[in-house]
Amino acid sequence: MRFPLVFLLGLGIGLAHAPCPAHAHGAHQHGVAQLMVAVEGPTLTLRLESPLDNLLGFERAPRTEKERAAAEALLGRLKRGEGLFALTQAAECALASATVDAPVLQGGKAAAGHADLAAEWRYSCRAPDKLTGLRVLLFRDYKRLTRLEAAVAGPRGQRAARLSARAPDLAW
Ligand SMILES: [Zn+2]
Repeated sequence: MRFPLVFLLGLGIGLAHAPCPAHAHGAHQHGVAQLMVAVEGPTLTLRLESPLDNLLGFERAPRTEKERAAAEALLGRLKRGEGLFALTQAAECALASATVDAPVLQGGKAAAGHADLAAEWRYSCRAPDKLTGLRVLLFRDYKRLTRLEAAVAGPRGQRAARLSARAPDLAW
C-alpha cells in the first residue's frame, strides 16, 4: 500500500517511494530509524527505513566471511519477519509478504559512504479490530539502534511516537 502523502508530509517523513529516501530528506542519522505503520481493513503494513549501520555496524559491501555471514543473516531474518515485532496476539495476524531493499548488500554501491536499508512487511489479520498495537523487538538484538521514529495511520487516525529499548510499545 502507499502511505497517504498528506500523512507523511504532516509528520515530516519523506516519501517512501523516493529513489533514495533517507538521503532525500536528510534522515540518515546513526542510531535512529523510521517505522511507518498503516492499518487498512485486515492488512497491516510496516515499513522500516534505517541506516545500515544500526543493523549491521557497517555501511558497505561485506569484505570478510564474518561480514558476509552477518549480512546474510540480517537479510534472511528481515525477510522471514521473525522476532522483529510482536503484534496483538488476539488479532491473529500472519505475515503475507516481506521485501527488503538494501542496495549495498545486494550488489549495489553506497553513495557518499552511507547506506540505508528499507524493509516492508505486510500482514493479514483475521481479527483486525483486535489489533491495537505492537511491540518493537528490534532493540534487543540491534543495540546500535537507539531510537525509532514511528508514524501510524490507523483506524482512529494518525499519530507519531518515539520508541526506544525502554519504550518499545506502540499503541493505536
Ligand atoms: Zn551512515
